[in-house]
Amino acid sequence: MALEKHRAVVVRTIKYGETSKIVTLYSQNSGLIKLVAKGARTSKSRLSGILEPLNVVEVIFYHKVQRELHTLNQASIIFSPIRLRMDAEDALLALACCEIITRVQMLHDENAQVYHLLEAAISVLNSSKAETRRIYFLTFQLQLLRALGLDPGFSKCSHCASEGSTVWNYDFRHARIYCENCRDLGKKEELSNELRAALNYLLHVEINQIENPEKLVIYQKGIYLFLLQFYKFHLEEMLNLKSLAVLQKMKNMQKEWLRSETM
Ligand SMILES: [Zn+2]
Repeated sequence: MALEKHRAVVVRTIKYGETSKIVTLYSQNSGLIKLVAKGARTSKSRLSGILEPLNVVEVIFYHKVQRELHTLNQASIIFSPIRLRMDAEDALLALACCEIITRVQMLHDENAQVYHLLEAAISVLNSSKAETRRIYFLTFQLQLLRALGLDPGFSKCSHCASEGSTVWNYDFRHARIYCENCRDLGKKEELSNELRAALNYLLHVEINQIENPEKLVIYQKGIYLFLLQFYKFHLEEMLNLKSLAVLQKMKNMQKEWLRSETM
């Protein structure tokens, strides 16, 4: 049994016994970890307020080899997204990012790129204007695909390598994009050049450095529908998120976006 120290995001907590919590964290250097925080739910606990979902924390725990559950020794806060917590809907977007991580990552499955993305997403969701938060949420999902080795590849035609086209065609099954000259190769769905450019930009930009996110809001619906279709072929874990709240949120978003007239 060795003491370990990790920087991590609290992604989920559940009650455990009368006074304790089981805390799931996504850590920078050890992927998902599960810790028992003994006495964390008593009013006197110095852990109260620290082990809350969305907080970035430093934890010290006893690592038990071959065990799923380890025992927390100490925790301190690095960052807490205070603004985000003031709005339930916005907090839910960030919580959905956390839930997604628990869906697509295994225990102790280290991925520094995914970690950086999650921490940056929570931070930018906390500081961004409400009307642009969905753009950040969608960007998180797009970039997560890349971090998981599922790059949707929007930069050039998969067949002739052309980077210019007035309209593009996307083959979801094979995750390939085709220019207008190569559109007859297989079954594909059309993407406007504007949507393709927005997808390509958001796939590669640092999530906290998106320029004029307000101007990208018009592509939300297109990006959302693209992701849904992509998940059907490549990441089914994303289609059946357990949290009813998250699903409801997604449904509300979808309704709203489908109602809007612009693409
Ligand atoms: Zn081509």
